[in-house]
Amino acid sequence: MSVVSTDRLIAPHGGSLVDRTGERPEELESLEAVVLTSREASDLDMIASGALSPLEGFMGRADYERVVEDMHLVSGLPWALPVCLAVDSAPVGDVVALVDEGGRALATLEVEETYSYDREREAELCFRTTDVAHPGVARLFAQKPLYLAGRVTVFERPEPDFPELARDPAETRRIFAERGWKRVVGFQTRNPIHRAHEYLTKVALETVDGLLVHPLVGETKSDDVPVDVRVDCYRTLLSGYYPEDRVLLSAFPAAMRYAGPREAIWHAICRKNYGCSHFIVGRDHAGVGDYYGTYDAQLIFDEFVPHELDVEPMFFEHTFWCNVCGSMASTKSCPHGPEDRVFLSGTKVRAMLGEGDVPPVEFTRPEVARVLIDAYRQ
Ligand SMILES: [Zn+2]
Repeated sequence: MSVVSTDRLIAPHGGSLVDRTGERPEELESLEAVVLTSREASDLDMIASGALSPLEGFMGRADYERVVEDMHLVSGLPWALPVCLAVDSAPVGDVVALVDEGGRALATLEVEETYSYDREREAELCFRTTDVAHPGVARLFAQKPLYLAGRVTVFERPEPDFPELARDPAETRRIFAERGWKRVVGFQTRNPIHRAHEYLTKVALETVDGLLVHPLVGETKSDDVPVDVRVDCYRTLLSGYYPEDRVLLSAFPAAMRYAGPREAIWHAICRKNYGCSHFIVGRDHAGVGDYYGTYDAQLIFDEFVPHELDVEPMFFEHTFWCNVCGSMASTKSCPHGPEDRVFLSGTKVRAMLGEGDVPPVEFTRPEVARVLIDAYRQ
């Protein structure tokens, strides 16, 4: 079997892909168990796969403080959000077992330190709000009071909901290399893809070799469209409207933090680890409610010096069908007014789909609308 070199792809963050998978230790039964929340378990799995390279475990105080304060690790590498494990008290031993909420052992952690943290400060700096109506802040404020840091070794990976879409960074990199792609744009989504997002992924694809459609399949808010319905929508859209040899659909296993601008940076860095040289940042990326300005998630990229992140953000403004242009367009490329544009609010679209009405083809592909209508009927 020939091994395809991935040398022509963008390097992982920090230079090499971390692999923190390993063997189940013999002394597992004797170790103190630390129970992870589902968000922590998804972070753990992303550390194992190298999606969070260069992190090899849950963050120590020095990295945590620097990340919260100025979006860098102690090493000087950019990093936008804490990846921490909250506990009630410091463990006694040097090694603990990490178990999921069902009690299944996933990993061991070599205890480096246990430290206290300031929830208000983390919320203010990372989420730009301390309002507990914000789902990320609510999660933070409900956390246990100390952070436990240390390198992990993961011997049990979660059963993916979509095994055929579960690909670690090493695998997406191998696929990109096999297809001869060097420049790859990543697209993050947690919604069905309608015409507006189809348009911007295609505009981006015109300038690079390949497109990674990388929907988030980890934990989201309960009012987001269920993940199995979304995956149906993605498959339907891609098979009908994208060339198969230019697109890869794969699952991004992260849990949403809803940290808006900082999460956009974090998402871009993760996609760099998956092999993306470019990353699409649209309006209100990873936002929730009206906590963030429409373009805050683009503006935050200016807080890094040029090329510091390496992965190149591709910014998009509001896109829509314009009846006068007779095409998809954006506020950047179309001079016409709102009266010429096909615009439907999220509320209006949900109402139409709930009634079994197919929205206009200028808004969504009918095949995608039908998947959603079927889902609403159940
Ligand atoms: Zn126009």
